This record gives sequence, structure tokens and C-alpha cells, in this order.
Amino acid sequence: QLAGTNKGLVEDYQQGSDEEYLRRLQILQALPEAISARHLQLHYQPKLDCRSGTVVGVEALIRWHHPQLGIIRPDEFIPLAEQSGDILRVTEWVCEAALDQQQYWLEQGHALQMAINLSALDLQNEALVSHLTQQLHQRRLSPQRLTLEVTESAVMADLEQAQLRLAQLRESGIQIALDDYGTGYASLAQLKYLPVDELKLDQSFIRRLQHEESDRVIVQSTLSLARQLNLKTVAEGVEEEPAWQLLQQMGCDTLQGYYFCRPLAPAKLEQWLQQTAPAFQGKEL
Ligand code: C2E
Ligand code: MG
Ligand code: MG
Ligand code: MG
Repeated sequence: QLAGTNKGLVEDYQQGSDEEYLRRLQILQALPEAISARHLQLHYQPKLDCRSGTVVGVEALIRWHHPQLGIIRPDEFIPLAEQSGDILRVTEWVCEAALDQQQYWLEQGHALQMAINLSALDLQNEALVSHLTQQLHQRRLSPQRLTLEVTESAVMADLEQAQLRLAQLRESGIQIALDDYGTGYASLAQLKYLPVDELKLDQSFIRRLQHEESDRVIVQSTLSLARQLNLKTVAEGVEEEPAWQLLQQMGCDTLQGYYFCRPLAPAKLEQWLQQTAPAFQGKEL
């Protein structure tokens, strides 16, 4: 682990400025304490059924409020936590917090599918499957209501390891989504043998869907491929209503994006569920 940290930092040092190097060092040093001091939080972004506009679940997205550095985005600290190995503890915390939240919402009458993001290193964790099944069992949560999102590139980084771990997770009933699909060079042949339930089209294809003919072609063909492989489909990055309409015509299953809702803290999300979500249900496009 340490060797990984140093190697990453030395490379950063050679490539970046002193300032960037120092910030990364600060982040790396602060992370273990942030985990124990509860400076980490989860925000939740809803996922809606594309046909009916009904909310079907949420994705947990991590946030870090550092007392001095301010808000540190996951795109910045998750890669560093992967280098240092701290990601394993981050994931453990995320899973517990997200499942607690899911259980609470279930008790409040909100039956929501929970999606959690994993890193490549998590797939090497021998204990992942038993930890998760234990945590689900303790809270009497169904594994079918949990989706683990793994990026296409994390899977391709070590295909054999990923296949093994994802198959184990799936055997326990947990759903697997291939995140950021279309950016990681998985071939169609490889896709066929991957134990996944869901393809999550990368937002780079979705955000400008109504303006870009080429994006529409890519999305349309990916959706029909997914259908033939019996995979569910999610589009992330829906920012405008016309994209919803197009995705509905193309037969996408589930949608997520700023047009519906940004990732929100739990109390705010509850408010959104009460006040805003009903307007999307059965909406005429
Ligand atoms: P992701 O899993 O692909 O999550 C989607 C990202 O797109 C989120 O950014 C979300 O806020 C953003 N997003 C959603 N809808 C829209 C939209 O309509 N327009 C635009 N422009 N963006 C949208 P966020 O929260 O900053 O997370 C970035 C990435 O960090 C995630 O990408 C994921 O790879 C990683 N990440 C976040 N939380 C966790 C975590 O708990 N564990 C791990 N391992 N990775 C995480
Ligand atoms: Mg994700
Ligand atoms: Mg994604
Ligand atoms: Mg992403």
C-alpha cells in the first residue's frame, strides 16, 4: 500500500506543480481521520423509470467537507484513496451508511433500490461479499434491492478478477451495474461473458443527446445491444426534457440526471420525494 502511495505521489510531483503535490499530500494524510471523524457524507441522486417517471431508487455519492480545504470532490480524492489503499475503508463506511439510510427509508415507506459505487481495488477484497451479505442480513434488507456500480474501466483493468468477484456478488442476489459504459473499451464479446445485470451509459453520450446525431446513434445501438443481451439500461446525465423523450422512444429503462434532481443530502431528498417527484410521474412528453 505504502509503495503504491509513494509511487503515485512521486509521479504527481514530477508532472504537477508544488501546490498540486502539497494538496494531494494533504488529502492523503487527512483521509484516515476524515473517515473516523465523520467528515464524509453521502448524498443521494434519484433514478426514475423512463416510461412512467416513477422514482425507483437512488445512487449514493460521497461528499467530503474538509475543515480547512473545503469541499473535496470524489473525482479528486477517490483516485488518491485508491493509490493509498484507504479506499477499502471508504467503501466499508459507504456501504454501512447507505444501507442504514436504505433501511430507514424503507421504514418510512420509501422502498428504494440503493446503488453504491465500487472501485477496482474493492474487487480484490476477498471479504467484500461476506461483509455485504452480513450487513444486508443484519438490516433485513434484500440483496436484490442493492446495486453495485463498477466502472467499465475498473472491470477491464483486471478482467479475470472482476469476473470472479462480480459472479460471487451476483450469486448472493446483489445486482451489478457497469458504470460509465462506453468509455472503457470492453468489447462486445467480453460483455457477453461479464456477470452484470445493467449497463449504465456514460453521461458524455447523454448530455447533448438532442443536439448530437452521433450520440443518438451510439446510444440507440447500445440500447438495442443491451436488450439482446438481456441487460437493463440506465442513462446518466439527463439534463433536459428532450433527452428524456428521446430515451423513452429508444426504450431506455431508467434515467438519472440534473433535469430530475441533483444529488441531495437525505433530508433534502425526502423533501424532493414529497414535493417534486410526483410531477414527473405520468408526465406527458
Ligand atoms: P459516477 O458513479 O458515474 O456518478 C455520476 C456523477 O455524475 C456524479 O458526480 C453525479 O453528481 C454526476 N451527475 C449526475 N447527473 C448529472 C447531470 O445531469 N449532469 C452532470 N454534469 N453530472 C451529473 P460526483 O458525485 O461528483 O461523483 C463523481 C464520481 O466519483 C462518480 O461517478 C464515481 O465514480 C465516484 N464516486 C462517487 N461516490 C463514490 C463512492 O462512494 N465510492 C466510489 N468508489 N466512488 C465514488
Ligand atoms: Mg455510479
Ligand atoms: Mg457513471
Ligand atoms: Mg463517473
